[in-house]
Amino acid sequence: MCSTCGHKDGTKALHIREWDCPQCGTHHDRDVNAALNILHKGLKKTSIEG
Ligand SMILES: [Zn+2]
Repeated sequence: MCSTCGHKDGTKALHIREWDCPQCGTHHDRDVNAALNILHKGLKKTSIEG
C-alpha cells in the first residue's frame, strides 16, 4: 500500500525492495513505506482514542 496516496498495489514478492506507485508515481523503499503505513495507522488510532 502506498504511504503517500493510499493506493493498494497488492502484495509484493519478497525480492522486490523498491517500487513506484502507479497512481501517484512516488518511489518507495519497501521497508520505509511499510514503516510509514504502520506510523499512519498508529496516528489514526491515537486520534480516535484521544
Ligand atoms: Zn501513491
